[in-house]
Amino acid sequence: MDNRHSTGDTARVPRVSFVSLGCPKALVDSERIITRLRAEGYELARSHAGADLAVVNTCGFLDSAQAESLAAIGQALNENGKVIVTGCMGAEPEKITARYPGVLAITGPQQYESVVAAVHRALPPRHDPFLDLLPPEGIKLTPRHYAYLKISEGCNNRCSFCIIPKLRGDLVSRPAADVLREAERLIAAGVKELLVISQDTSAYGSDVKYAASAWKGREVRAKFLDLARALGELGAWVRLHYVYPYPHVDEVIPLMAEGKVLPYLDVPFQHAAPAVLRRMKRPAAQEKTLQRIARWREICPDLTIRSTFIVGFPGESEEDFRLLLDWLDAAELDRVGCFRYEPVAGALANELATAVPNAVKEERWHRLMGHQQAISARRLRRRVGTRQQVIIDEVHGPRGESDAAGAGAPTAKGRTRGDAPEIDGVVHVASRRPLRQGEIATVRIERAGEYDLHGTVVGF
Ligand code: SF4
Repeated sequence: MDNRHSTGDTARVPRVSFVSLGCPKALVDSERIITRLRAEGYELARSHAGADLAVVNTCGFLDSAQAESLAAIGQALNENGKVIVTGCMGAEPEKITARYPGVLAITGPQQYESVVAAVHRALPPRHDPFLDLLPPEGIKLTPRHYAYLKISEGCNNRCSFCIIPKLRGDLVSRPAADVLREAERLIAAGVKELLVISQDTSAYGSDVKYAASAWKGREVRAKFLDLARALGELGAWVRLHYVYPYPHVDEVIPLMAEGKVLPYLDVPFQHAAPAVLRRMKRPAAQEKTLQRIARWREICPDLTIRSTFIVGFPGESEEDFRLLLDWLDAAELDRVGCFRYEPVAGALANELATAVPNAVKEERWHRLMGHQQAISARRLRRRVGTRQQVIIDEVHGPRGESDAAGAGAPTAKGRTRGDAPEIDGVVHVASRRPLRQGEIATVRIERAGEYDLHGTVVGF
């Protein structure tokens, strides 16, 4: 028998360690690079020290993220010595080489081919046609039952606080059929929930004039609504992230009411004071936005709205800030994240008005978070007594924590249709029978804490 392809051969498998920093979009980039490297026969090492080469996928969005990225590069150099840098910070290579002239290569965001080429140069692949098989669903860094689905790169907006268009360029949408094929492969591989992401999800397809592509004998346009509908037909949960508040977002709400996509909207409103929104170069129609939110909830009463805001934006007055708090009272959003404004180098916003002192930013951040906490808690309590579908993320027991009867019943952590992984709350679930990760159970909600819910499985 010919044993040339057995693993006990002479050439050692090349091993690469990988650090992925930044947002879910960067995580998808990492998944793509890793998929490709694994397909070519590279192995992933758990530590830099145990690898032949380290790749660091950096984030350059805020100064604090850049500092974290530089620290990660330094650590990889110390522990391994052979380091390739990619990701958002790669768009400004001089910042990296000034501090670490010894890095082997620097590539920018989405430059998968360049990263892989750099890895080939530094650590040639061991060709083995028997081992170099690419699982059709790719290698995912997220748990198996949910996956991020990136539908476009770049952004055509020019929000004055953001340098992403500079780093990542203008909007480039993937053909709808490509996105749908990837979604189908992921679902075939066990994914139960698709998290649709991009810099600006609702602008999807505007760069290609909503061109249609062929999918299962029909044409699907590269349009936010059409793609959401087609994804919703695949049988998995579909969650929409980073939806810029364009008027046409209203069209997707009926799909949520019909249960085609999850009744969940992640819309970064960023502020409510018209003067601040104008300086941010964001849509500034806060009254209209309140009416739209009310209308969305009329059409889809289960809708969960998550948003993010920036406090301490240049020129933000106490009055602007109070207006934001009042707006939050009226909007009654379910989940809110808040950032203190950071003067990212190169952002237009820094030149528009006087900077807000750090102490004021800090004070406003605490006020906003405290203010919203009461609203979010009130919204969460409305779910007590209802039955919710819950996707199971983590299981414990049956010999884990005991139930009230002391019988050592299985417990788990999951999420309702209104909770995105990693950013929203969870449901602590008790169950009579063991649960499986990725399973969707019907849970009666019995109690609400500040962020999380507690309940018992009543059906599957
Ligand atoms: S929409 Fe998002 S990515 Fe685009 S410029 Fe604004 S903040 Fe940046």
